[in-house]
Amino acid sequence: MVKLYLAVPCYNEEEVLFDTTEKLTKKYDQLILEGKITDDSKIVYIDDGSKDRTWEIISGLYKTNKYVNGIKMSRNRGHQNALLGGLMTIKDDCDCVISIDADLQDDINAFDKMLEDFENGSEIVYGVRSKRATDTAFKRMTAQGFYKILSALGAEVVYNHADFRLMSRRALNALAEFKEVNLFLRGLVPLVGYKSSVVEYERSERLAGESKYPLKKMLGLAWDGVTSLSMKPIRMITALGVIVFCISIIMLIYSFVMWVIGNTVSGWTSMTVSIWAIGGLQILAIGVVGEYIGKIYMETKNRPRFIVEEQLK
Ligand code: UDP
Ligand code: MG
Repeated sequence: MVKLYLAVPCYNEEEVLFDTTEKLTKKYDQLILEGKITDDSKIVYIDDGSKDRTWEIISGLYKTNKYVNGIKMSRNRGHQNALLGGLMTIKDDCDCVISIDADLQDDINAFDKMLEDFENGSEIVYGVRSKRATDTAFKRMTAQGFYKILSALGAEVVYNHADFRLMSRRALNALAEFKEVNLFLRGLVPLVGYKSSVVEYERSERLAGESKYPLKKMLGLAWDGVTSLSMKPIRMITALGVIVFCISIIMLIYSFVMWVIGNTVSGWTSMTVSIWAIGGLQILAIGVVGEYIGKIYMETKNRPRFIVEEQLK
């Protein structure tokens, strides 16, 4: 049997907490009854510095519901940080953690399949949305664009996977080795490696309240994802520099021909060529400097250079 903890980040979620708890409690009762999880498994709410009654509700639930535990963050630091904080706080108390949003848009009935995969040796099980029938067309398009742009810019993420996933204690311990401050868990978890699998589910609508991820925050998250995982934007500048510099050589030949034909006013040739050449060289130079800054950036993250999965000896 598995000792399962749930990590549920909550930011101003007073409207959904009771509903959520009721549903999760039923699910836990069922899982325990079926012998899939131990009866000291917990549901851990992580209050991300909410400004409403979220923490009071969590404290109340802690007293009345045998499954509920709570963690309160000192202030609002955003979903990713709250989630990581929660995961790192509870990882040593259990066998595995499933992270799920407080609004239960992700299907709690996927727990069964996740646990099964875990028992079959998967250290990480990604919840992946099979379709987005209930999201608005706008949310669906922006969200799918988000994954496309991310992968085009070199940030590898699991397609259509948000932060609904199971991680074993072992995978969490490996994740703990990633010390970076600019946090993009969806990009980091695949870097951990280990045996992983995917469970598909349908995403439903928010129980109540509003999305805490408006377009602005989503763009912010995408930008964080790209800039913290990939050096492609810098490489693009270097490439641009090379292209402009190549154009300058074409311009050189062109203006030389023009000069030979006598089709120019005096001073034009040298002006044109130098504008292109200097422009190209400058962009190229910025790209090269950027390349080093990118390397320094990656070094300062102090990521583990390897994670051993097994050793036979
Ligand atoms: N959340 C958080 N801190 C924040 C913003 C959001 O902990 O600063 C939590 C929120 O309570 C929810 C989860 O992150 O549990 C996802 O937010 P939401 O459901 O609003 O995002 P969406 O599903 O619309 O992308
Ligand atoms: Mg949601």
